Amino acid sequence: MIVSDAKEINPDNIEHILKRIVDEVGAYIYIKNAQGEYIYANNLTCELFNCTPTEIQGADDSHFFSPPLLGDIKANDKLVLQSKQRIEFIEENLLIHSGEALIYKSVKLPIINDNNEVIGLCGVSTDITKLYNLQKHLQAQANTDYLTHLANRRYFMKEAEKEISRAKRHQLPLALIIADIDHFKAINDNFGHDIGDELLVAISDNFVKEVRKEDIVGRIGGEEFALLLPNTNMTSALSLAERIRKSIAGSFVKSHSNEKITVTISLGIAELSAHDTNYQSLYRNADEALYLAKETGRNKVACYTSNTIQTT
Ligand code: GH3
Ligand code: MG
Ligand code: MG
Repeated sequence: MIVSDAKEINPDNIEHILKRIVDEVGAYIYIKNAQGEYIYANNLTCELFNCTPTEIQGADDSHFFSPPLLGDIKANDKLVLQSKQRIEFIEENLLIHSGEALIYKSVKLPIINDNNEVIGLCGVSTDITKLYNLQKHLQAQANTDYLTHLANRRYFMKEAEKEISRAKRHQLPLALIIADIDHFKAINDNFGHDIGDELLVAISDNFVKEVRKEDIVGRIGGEEFALLLPNTNMTSALSLAERIRKSIAGSFVKSHSNEKITVTISLGIAELSAHDTNYQSLYRNADEALYLAKETGRNKVACYTSNTIQTT
């Protein structure tokens, strides 16, 4: 609401109304000189900084924002002043007086005099913290399997492609393990789908517990999982796979009638070679090894090598 004592709106009182708009529009509006000192800030900005319009004059951002994000704000301002361009930024701020972390969409315009000298900038910042966090949350949700909270198939493949490119670029080893639960259909049939789900979660947790933080674990099918291991050769991948296989074979969940249910998994491993151009070829090799692990009795690890596949 804009309050005015004018009888009607006309060009003579529009300036007064514009002044009111600046305070009521719900955005943080401010003017800084070329040294980064505030010359003007609207009411909302003063409230945010917890100071009066007079106190704000001459103060710079180090009075209001904590490092290291303070450095980003200063760098953005510098860019506007140097480029003499209007620039939009997403700015993350950490407020000193409240400790709050806020995200803003900021539009910053240089103020240029008749001699084409930059004398300051004007900024309009809108708080988008809620929207930004919601977007992050939805993004994470879109990448995550709802049941196990592992990476879903699509996200796993995307990340795997990135890691494969990186490994090739830097000539680093990389291994892929594919794991599939043995006779899982029988678990569902005998104990119910909910117990099956519980097992999927327990097995996923087991994978996460065993891997390093740079490894990526995904649920790439109903009861099929993939572990992407950057900087890992076949020997190391094999010892991890064996550890996981044993750990899962030795654990259990309880049925509705309190019966211990154990399950085993079979695993196939492939190491990235010069022949592999993308995730698909690496996956094919690991899957071929997995097939052999199943064929030769399950509860096994098999490794793909370029000519033969070996089981342990
Ligand atoms: P194998 O040892 O050859 O892998 O046998 P399997 O029974 O594990 O394999 P199969 O492909 O015959 O069956 C897979 C089963 O996994 C069937 C399907 O109902 C079950 N499954 C897939 N997704 C889920 C899920 O989200 N929850 C539960 N409870 N079961 C699932
Ligand atoms: Mg299976
Ligand atoms: Mg399967």
